[in-house]
Amino acid sequence: MLRSILVKTGENALVFPQQIKITNSCRVNVSLIKTRYRATSGALAEVGIQDESLSTDYTKIRVFAKKETKELMRSWLVLKLSSMRFIVNNSDSLITVGRKILPKQSFEKLMNLTFFKQFVIGENITNSLDVVDLMKTNGIRPMLCVPTETKIGLSELERELEYQSNYDIIKECCDGTAHVDPSGFAQAKITAMCDKELLIEMNKYLLEHEANHREPGDWSVERISAYLSKGEIGKIIMEDLSEENNGKLQDLFIKLDDLAKTCKDLDVRLMLDAEQTYIQAALGYVILVLQAKYNKDKPIVYNTYQCYRKDTLDRVKADLNLSSRLNFQIAGKLVRGAYMIEERQLAESAGVCDPINDTYNDTNKSYHSVVDLLLPLVVKNKTGVMVASHNEDTVDYVMKKMDEHGISKENPLLCFGQLYGMCDHVSYFLGMNGYQILKSAPYGLIDDCLLYLARRAHENHSVMERTVLERSLIKKELLRRVAST
Ligand SMILES: Cc1cc2nc3c(=O)[nH]c(=O)nc-3n(C[C@H](O)[C@H](O)[C@H](O)COP(=O)(O)OP(=O)(O)OC[C@H]3O[C@@H](n4cnc5c(N)ncnc54)[C@H](O)[C@@H]3O)c2cc1C
Repeated sequence: MLRSILVKTGENALVFPQQIKITNSCRVNVSLIKTRYRATSGALAEVGIQDESLSTDYTKIRVFAKKETKELMRSWLVLKLSSMRFIVNNSDSLITVGRKILPKQSFEKLMNLTFFKQFVIGENITNSLDVVDLMKTNGIRPMLCVPTETKIGLSELERELEYQSNYDIIKECCDGTAHVDPSGFAQAKITAMCDKELLIEMNKYLLEHEANHREPGDWSVERISAYLSKGEIGKIIMEDLSEENNGKLQDLFIKLDDLAKTCKDLDVRLMLDAEQTYIQAALGYVILVLQAKYNKDKPIVYNTYQCYRKDTLDRVKADLNLSSRLNFQIAGKLVRGAYMIEERQLAESAGVCDPINDTYNDTNKSYHSVVDLLLPLVVKNKTGVMVASHNEDTVDYVMKKMDEHGISKENPLLCFGQLYGMCDHVSYFLGMNGYQILKSAPYGLIDDCLLYLARRAHENHSVMERTVLERSLIKKELLRRVAST
């Protein structure tokens, strides 16, 4: 109940009340929301904590002890700017104006010193290695990803070339992952590699089967995955699709099959993103087909489950039923979901039922119910889960559940995920305490990353608005350093 109310903090930002615990200006009884954790004593001693147990009161832990001063100053500034609604809402226009009024070099230097350095690990894998090493010394692993935003206004031919080049760089990302984080994850968006119109068309036939998987004849996952397993992609032909779209679908399966095989051979995992409901049934479908081939013994291909949808628990259950019938494992990244405003607008304009939960609290319940469903399967080595959230309460919840189920922190089938440059206090805390924590770590040229950063800023505006805790911890660490000089 408490959490569903928004409060205004002293910094004039709207925050969710789980953050009240850290806001000095809010007089809230911290002990009410304290949880106690087990923690590793070595890492704690380094940051000045002698006790064997820890509380979630991050203000008592020097999470940023190992961060360089200039890095802390940059983070504070960028997080402050990113918490301002005007900047987030107008990020695309601000980038355009910046480009126009500043010489190219100055603009790039400014971006490089601020947003780019904060949210992107480097221009390519080789020159990101220092950042990767630094993350690793703090117990944090990189989940490499290449920003592959679809550009607007391209011709048909240019788009096809773009899909091919995106596929090539995603494949490089899989190779790179094997080098920087053996058995780690390479992250990719399916829409970077195929025509969205194909997915929209497929979605029409698949949407009603998302929560039962009674796909009719042609579309049966069993049938299509059998073709994939036998290397007979040319036989994947759907009567419902035009010849052109069947060609595009076969092309997509060729690309995805090759990426999954590459990951399997390299012993890394392929993490595939979730997107809007109008294409998600199609995305979920091709992922299940891949999982039926590649996830026989252990999870290689990971789906993403957006818990802000009303039907998420039913969809996960349906995927589980199908996987036990066809004898493979599902696996997934659990997120709340990034396209809430767009989904609500689309539903309203189409006059259909809003697919998104009515309240934030319902989304939290949905998220935790999927955790409850999947964690017992992690214990039995029957699924893989990434808890991808910046929400401190969700992280608390999962750590508690891991304890209850006896899931060790080292278990490769359960890890936490956050975005590079965001929510570092939680990431560093998890890393210091031996949990598997991965940061989605984009790399690429500034020009290619700016569109991605603008999208991320929109998607995560609620998280960026509530960076009060992180900024206060940074400030505290900086003041401590000034005082000790
Ligand atoms: C590693 C990683 C990978 C990600 N990959 C994807 C991906 O593939 N696809 C994707 O869609 N997103 C993805 N996201 C983004 C994610 O879905 C969230 O947008 C983001 O993480 C904020 O959620 P939170 O749990 O971190 O924080 P919180 O602030 O606790 O949650 C905010 C989220 O709660 C939900 N919410 C807020 N208000 C309401 C309301 N009134 N009613 C219902 N729900 C509400 C929304 O989903 C909102 O984004 C990813 C995030 C991470 C960390």
